[in-house]
Order: sequence, then structure tokens, then C-alpha cells
Amino acid sequence: MLGGMSWESTASYYRAINEGVKRELGGLHSAKICMYSVNFDEIEKLQHHGDWDKTAEILIDAARAIESGGADFLIICTNTMHKVAPEIEAALSIPLLHIADATAEKLVVDKIERVGLLGTRFTMEEEFYKGRLRDRFGIDVLVPDQIQQSRVHDIIYQELCLGKILPDSRAAYLDIIHSLYEKGAQAVILGCTEIALLVQQKHTSVSLYDTTEIHAAAAVQKAI
Ligand code: GLU
Repeated sequence: MLGGMSWESTASYYRAINEGVKRELGGLHSAKICMYSVNFDEIEKLQHHGDWDKTAEILIDAARAIESGGADFLIICTNTMHKVAPEIEAALSIPLLHIADATAEKLVVDKIERVGLLGTRFTMEEEFYKGRLRDRFGIDVLVPDQIQQSRVHDIIYQELCLGKILPDSRAAYLDIIHSLYEKGAQAVILGCTEIALLVQQKHTSVSLYDTTEIHAAAAVQKAI
């Protein structure tokens, strides 16, 4: 597990993977995990300065340490940092279990062809995520308008990554989820690993695809 982005969501992954292994194997079984958790302050500053090459360097060093630690495959516990997944993958000999692929495979099984996407501005705006869903899986992706994107992005960095869960922010997310549904999305991807700390399926009748839960479940299946 390449985690710490933020640690709030890596904690969710750690719990979900261990619960998944326990569900599959029973008793005292737990997951064998080799985790490297970065300092998110460094990563966040580089992201917002546009220095993605430096983020890739940091994550490659971390991923190599995970590989040396004996991992059979790697998961990167954030959607956004999959922007540099190709560089990380190229530096390793173990495979990467890509978060967008795990999510898309579930959407395909559920016959979802048009989906809304919430995440950081990088994830919502750029092609590394939407393009992968479209080109590899034929899924049409809708994103919020610019003002909504700013709200979604700011809540992630200023609240969720700091462990702040605020009812007003939940209401804002639910409005945006509803507007994506009205624009034709059959479901909405929670494409940032902290969003499920704020919004869960019980809050809305629109189908939600939580990337943390889906990615963790895919890792359990692959490991087993
Ligand atoms: N965890 C978030 C994500 O899934 C955002 C933090 C980050 O920039 O990595 O995109």
C-alpha cells in the first residue's frame, strides 16, 4: 500500500482490506500488508505547484521500498496520484492494481455507461482518469461545472484530508451529486478516497461507487 494521501483515507483502506480478508478466510486471518505512508504536506504542495515530476520521484522511491519489502503487487491509495501511475508502474517489476480499472470493472458489471465523477480538480479536469474510463471501458464521464468543481476540490483539501466532516459540506456534495444525476449520470463515482468519510450511500438514492471500498475489495480478491 502506497498511502498517506491522505492518511485519513489510508486508515479506511487498512480497515477495509483487513475486514475483507477476515470475511474471506475467517477467524484470526488478517492481511499481510507492506505499507509506505508518505508525508502528504510535501505531496500536496508539489501538486498545487504543478511539480508532478517531483511527486513521481517521491512515489517511485516509496513504491520501490514496498517492492523490496516483499509485496506481490502495489496499490496507490489515492485517485489523484494515479496521474503519475505510468511512471511508477514503469519503475517496478511488480504489477499495479489501478484504482480506475477496479472501479470501471464494477461499473461494467453493473451496466453503467454514463457516470458522474467527483474528485480533486486534477481528477475531474484531466484525462488520466476520465480518459481511461472512456478509452479502455467505453464509459462516458460527466463532471460538475467549474464552480461546483472548486467547492468539491476545496472541501477535500481543507476539510476531509484533515479529518473534518461538516454537515454543510455534505449538503453541498449531495446537491452536486443530484445535479450530475439530473444531467444524465446513472451513478456517481466518489473518485477521491476521502469522500466516503463525508457522503455514504445512506445519504442519497443516487448510486454511489466508492473508490476506496472498491479498490480495497479488488486488492483482497487479487491477494487471495
Ligand atoms: N485522496 C484523494 C484522492 O483520492 C486526494 C488526495 C490526493 O491528492 O492524493 O484523489
